[in-house]
Amino acid sequence: MEAKLNELKERLREVGDYYAISSLMGWDQATYMPPGGAEARGRQMARIGKLAHEKATDPAIGTLLDELQPYADSLPYDSDDAGLIRATRRAYERDVRVPPALVAEMSEHGARSYQAWISARPQNDFAALRPLLEKTLELSRKVADCFPGYTHIADPLIDMFDYGMKAQSVRALFAQLRQQLVPLVKAITAQPVADDSCLKRHFPKAGQLAFGEEIIKRYGYDFERGRQDLTHHPFATKFAIGDVRITTRVQEHDLGDCLFSTLHESGHAMYEQGVDPLYEGTTLDGGTSAGVHESQSRLWENIVGRSLAFWEHYYPRLQAMFPDTLNDVPLETFYRAINKVQRSLIRVDADEVTYNLHVMIRFDLELALLEGTLEVRDLAEAWHARYEQDLGIRAPDDRDGVLQDVHWYSGRIGGMFQGYTLGNILSAQFYEAALKAHPHIPTEIGRGEFGTLHGWLRENIYRHGSKYTAPELIERASGSPMSIEPYMRYLRGKYEQLYKV
Ligand code: ZN
Repeated sequence: MEAKLNELKERLREVGDYYAISSLMGWDQATYMPPGGAEARGRQMARIGKLAHEKATDPAIGTLLDELQPYADSLPYDSDDAGLIRATRRAYERDVRVPPALVAEMSEHGARSYQAWISARPQNDFAALRPLLEKTLELSRKVADCFPGYTHIADPLIDMFDYGMKAQSVRALFAQLRQQLVPLVKAITAQPVADDSCLKRHFPKAGQLAFGEEIIKRYGYDFERGRQDLTHHPFATKFAIGDVRITTRVQEHDLGDCLFSTLHESGHAMYEQGVDPLYEGTTLDGGTSAGVHESQSRLWENIVGRSLAFWEHYYPRLQAMFPDTLNDVPLETFYRAINKVQRSLIRVDADEVTYNLHVMIRFDLELALLEGTLEVRDLAEAWHARYEQDLGIRAPDDRDGVLQDVHWYSGRIGGMFQGYTLGNILSAQFYEAALKAHPHIPTEIGRGEFGTLHGWLRENIYRHGSKYTAPELIERASGSPMSIEPYMRYLRGKYEQLYKV
């Protein structure tokens, strides 16, 4: 058994290495690669993706899994080996269904779309992307059709990112959340809008980067096993447990953009840095689902990074970092500014209260595209119509409309948006559980100390990697299944006080 298990691990490590190489090329493409490299990079990533897929779907893995199953069944559910065999079987049975040629085509098409989006968005040129997007939709449907027997065509795509969720269950959860969220948004936006002009002063780039990095070091992001670089659309990526990188962008007249994206991506990265080193290179090496991953970024970005306790400690540091810029701005004004709630156009800039409405729009639109009830040629207008209906505003162009997010332009439609809102819901659920175990966490945050919180997250979430599915992990860590209640308690507690509603 041990020899078979070692052979399985060795094969998984090989697959993992190919995926890491592909991620490294993707990181380079989004940070330092000159535009002239685009075509070759698309080909190279497709080639390595194809190779990884071939290795991941080698029938020898299926045989090993079958041979190891009796051993797995003899182990306690919590054992690492049992978890490895479970998670690998799930991934293997999913991967063998998608033909290698389709995987390669998706990868190559994704790279081409991404490059086209980089130049089309600033030019507000949705027309240029339309044929690419139509192809993306066609390929996404083909992938879904590799999993016959689904109830909704988006189900197999959602399942790849948030295992255990379906179009129907996400819709039901979102409807529940929407019902409670809309009255809160209404009550808040009936109040005078918070003044956030203090964030729009001039903040030199170097200071912004240094300040963000100072904080995430305190959070526990390990720069010996990571680094931060600049990109268009911030993300975190991993090549090994010892090399988990983040990216950000800086606008000198918008303090929040760089700062909160750094805090956000550090949350993703700390999850990956915190995986048990014994899992390195196996199926267990990495966060368990998109929603759980996003819960970690939103927890550090919002629940910690936009809290009053946090800024009672960090605001004097920020003022010292930008001398004369914020001296006339009291903490109370700054705190209101970073928690300004308004009906806005851009998801990534949206406040905590309205953010989920942005996600629901995208989720509904992509479901409609996949169902065939919405055509790509009508997508830009459908986008505007939904923003008018849900948020009461309309973007002046497509740049801040349908072109604003990279997701649909990286080669896939479906599965990638619901995780943001699941993440918000879960961030509050996990934080509440951490507070129950350690009620003094807010006091520590007020001193710029994050060790107890980080320790709880590492112990209950990070270290497990993908050993447990998201539903299992949520139960284990918080004691109950996913629920919107802790999230609504958090939002109400914070914003009813801020806005006196
Ligand atoms: Zn994120």
